[in-house]
Amino acid sequence: MSCAPPSSETPITSPVPAAVETVTKPALIGKNLEELTALMADLGEKPFRAKQLFQWLYVKSARKFEDMTDLAKPFRQKLADNFTVGPLTMVERQVSADGTRKYLFKTPTGQTIESVLMYFEDRDTYSICISSQVGCAVDCKFCATGKLGFKQNLTVADITDQYLAVQADAGKDIRNIVMMGQGEPMLNYDNVIAAIRLLNTAAEVGIRHITLSTSGIVPKIDALAKEGMQLVLAVSLHAPDDETRNKIMPINTKYPVAELMRSIKDYIGTTGRRVTIEYVMLKGINDSQWHAEKLAELLRGVKVNINLIPYNPIGDSYGFERPSNNTIMRFMETVMASGKKVTVRVERGSDIAAACGQLANQYIEKTSA
Ligand code: SF4
Repeated sequence: MSCAPPSSETPITSPVPAAVETVTKPALIGKNLEELTALMADLGEKPFRAKQLFQWLYVKSARKFEDMTDLAKPFRQKLADNFTVGPLTMVERQVSADGTRKYLFKTPTGQTIESVLMYFEDRDTYSICISSQVGCAVDCKFCATGKLGFKQNLTVADITDQYLAVQADAGKDIRNIVMMGQGEPMLNYDNVIAAIRLLNTAAEVGIRHITLSTSGIVPKIDALAKEGMQLVLAVSLHAPDDETRNKIMPINTKYPVAELMRSIKDYIGTTGRRVTIEYVMLKGINDSQWHAEKLAELLRGVKVNINLIPYNPIGDSYGFERPSNNTIMRFMETVMASGKKVTVRVERGSDIAAACGQLANQYIEKTSA
């Protein structure tokens, strides 16, 4: 699901290009303490070196070995000869009028991925939206990333480095992470879970401040329930019935609404955690009074919050439109009347195409022109 729905109302304030180079040496970011200890042993170094490195990589967000000032110079040189700090190279950074920053990174395999940093004034917090795959196989009909098709899974290092590289570049203490960028995190399950564990234990981001968003991959929701992680699970439902959901999310033919709801209820029963239901609002598709009532009925007695996301296309809208404000309000009031907490997502970074796939798509278009 997208990080933030785009519109085209405000100008880009400061696009900042950066040099592009492909990383070839193995990266240290993405390694846990045991793995770093083993690598240091291979270099003939003592285990305490791994602990020092761990601090520099994950807590102090160092991006160059030369910045790791309490390490002896010959050791820093040895590290630089054998490794890079992180796997990602920054290709482009855009800063929106509202302060949202969108980053385009190149992976060691030459693919491009994106991350979005958002500032929420009311809570005075920074939140980063990160990607889990290059492209996506799920093919939601309203999504730019779906049009790219699946290209590859990101590694633990690629996923973790998005957070660390943005934190270092922006100089902000980022305390919230949402896995809602490009890709379906549940289809890269092992790497995503390992990265989340690293971000939680090494970079010290509270697990309850990490959100994993899925289009509804039922076996993986069932697996996640057994991980014992207190993260926030967000499920992109987008329709309360199979007929509507099949039209906009082909994944529903594999995991239909009843099966998905069984999985969500079991997840809540096992973890005790409230689930967030994401609902992108598409004019004339899933925004009727009937849909609102059906959604309220489907979620009756289920421990969920509901997040309505008014569709707001940039570039190709794929034939979808945003409903009117009146329709959105009426829909919200109907669902709220059933006793549910309902929020409407605020647009962020509307001028810099801060939606999944948008910047990567633009980059692909630019480089292939
Ligand atoms: S196609 Fe993939 S990236 Fe796009 S909304 Fe669906 S699951 Fe998310």
